[in-house]
Amino acid sequence: MDLHAVLLKYWGFSSFRPLQEDIIRSAVEGNDTLALLPTGGGKSLCYQVPGMAMDGLCIVISPLIALMKDQVEALKNKGIKAVGIYHGLSKAEIDKAVDNCVYGDVKFLYMSPERLSTDMIRSRLVKMKVNLLAVDEAHCISQWGYDFRPPYLRIAEARELIPNTPVLALTATATRQVVQDIQDKLGFSDAKVFQKSFERKNLAYVVFREEDKLQRLLRVCNNVKGTGVVYVRNRKRTREIAEWLSQRGISADYYHAGLDSKERDNRQEAWMKERTRVIVSTNAFGMGIDKPNVRFVVHMDLPDSPEAYFQEAGRGGRDGNKAYAIMLFNQSDIIDLKTFHERSFPPLKEIKKVYNTLGNYFQLAIGSGKDQSMPFDLVSFSKQYNIDPFLVFNALGFLEKEGYLAVSEALANPSRMMFLVDNEELYRFQVANPVFDPFIKLLLRSYSGLFSEYTKIKEDDIAKRAGIPVDKVKKLLQDLHQMNILHYKAQNETPMVTFLEERLSASDIIISKETYKERKNFARRRLDAMVNYVESTTKCRSLFLLAYFGETGAQRCGQCDVCLEMNKAGVSSYEYRQLTEAIRPLVQQEKLRLPDLLEKLDITMDNEKILHVVRYLIDNEIIGQDENQVLYWKQPEQKK
Ligand code: ADP
Ligand code: MG
Repeated sequence: MDLHAVLLKYWGFSSFRPLQEDIIRSAVEGNDTLALLPTGGGKSLCYQVPGMAMDGLCIVISPLIALMKDQVEALKNKGIKAVGIYHGLSKAEIDKAVDNCVYGDVKFLYMSPERLSTDMIRSRLVKMKVNLLAVDEAHCISQWGYDFRPPYLRIAEARELIPNTPVLALTATATRQVVQDIQDKLGFSDAKVFQKSFERKNLAYVVFREEDKLQRLLRVCNNVKGTGVVYVRNRKRTREIAEWLSQRGISADYYHAGLDSKERDNRQEAWMKERTRVIVSTNAFGMGIDKPNVRFVVHMDLPDSPEAYFQEAGRGGRDGNKAYAIMLFNQSDIIDLKTFHERSFPPLKEIKKVYNTLGNYFQLAIGSGKDQSMPFDLVSFSKQYNIDPFLVFNALGFLEKEGYLAVSEALANPSRMMFLVDNEELYRFQVANPVFDPFIKLLLRSYSGLFSEYTKIKEDDIAKRAGIPVDKVKKLLQDLHQMNILHYKAQNETPMVTFLEERLSASDIIISKETYKERKNFARRRLDAMVNYVESTTKCRSLFLLAYFGETGAQRCGQCDVCLEMNKAGVSSYEYRQLTEAIRPLVQQEKLRLPDLLEKLDITMDNEKILHVVRYLIDNEIIGQDENQVLYWKQPEQKK
């Protein structure tokens, strides 16, 4: 099968990136496959190309609605039939979409894992001709991962309904434990695992312990040419910092999920097109954004895990040219992070109370409510019941992680419509109701497919073309909706809460103390690793992160702040290599302690330099020391 032809025809790319082709072949040959590629490595193509190369339909599971939407749009723009089903679509819309997957020629179906395990999907799944089940962000299946989502655990059940369909799991971040867990929980049969090194050779990691972060940021913006991203936790701060930079002559803007979607699109676009140089943002920015020439990523606050940091920092330098990943921190950040961690795990009693109150708020009887989605306004909810909004937020997060609820991102669902009558009936209606005739004609001229699927429409575009006010357009659509001529769903932007299980009485919800504790401990360990990362002054930053992801054998990067310090001690890369190559055989052959080693080393070099390097090798766990101070070589073969 000519995979290159598919790549060229639909994507216009002439070659695959490293490992893409191996992954794709493995999937096409029907193997369960696990692909570990860093952010930006091109994971989407790994399932999209097989999906196109084979007969039938590729199902894609993803937890991120925004990303699903982007991908569905992008595929449609290439003329490929793709559908996504998300919270916020009506039942009728979902029925229609799924029917098109069973009876139509849809090539890609995107959905969340909780959707996959609904009866509605399960009953249709057996009728679909599924060529591949792609599981994106596969680390979400692991309790050990930093983003555990229980509905992922149910993917294996859906597999049983399509037993001959291979699974392709993809993730950008996986420690060894997680890699194993993904295979177990997805029910892999002799898996093929492809892993690209997570080493980013052109990315210089730099950590500054800094009290005056703003001044430092300004210096970075002035010293590093090109586009940058600045991450902060707090939405309000994004604006303040952007303004502060602007006042000092840096072209900057801000971005967070609280802005309306149009505003977000505009800002993102301005930054992509380099009308804005620096974007100050919460972590809402960046997913699915793919700008190759980002020259610096600055973190003003500590992320809560190395996984998150690696992903965000990794948005720098995708073009392979030098870029900086800079972290600014001080002691109070560490305290904040720990407080934040504590607050993310509210007491079990409080979590149950929020659950119960939520049931009342939605007026759900005990035992009902499964699969129901309702718009949810956190602020008014907190006010009405007099509960701390932060507590509500965290309790919801916890209930979500336990699989009781799903809270959807506050996303703009654009307006959509579909005719409920066929062509002929519509014509009769137009003749009988001439006032609607020009409007309907305009709709038919402006959009295609209105009879067969829900179609995105823009009321202001229609208004412009028709030369009438937007309100009038909405009114006409609503009227036609009332008359059952079409189904009109106006845009909605409120977050939705979905009950994934029937409402239980508060005493029945089970959050085991052990799970709670375990979860909390894991989160704590990730946090501690993050703190170690910034506090360490002796470990190459790149090696630190790689070791965290279980990768050994990489070289020190030579460009992070720690390595630069070492260079300052006068050790050149050449000398470093020379020394390590001299030390390795010695400690591998004999049981030496440090003084013996120094004595045995037959190399003319400053003693101080030698000590410096040996210290470095020990700190970076390239050499180990046993309880008797005997040195041993810890790393497997060094790769060049
Ligand atoms: P990931 O999911 O691994 O973070 P994406 O699938 O979003 O990465 O891909 C990142 C970018 O790389 C996209 O813009 C995609 O079009 C581009 N890309 C992927 N594969 C190739 C290729 N073989 N040639 C050129 N560009 C590619
Ligand atoms: Mg991706």
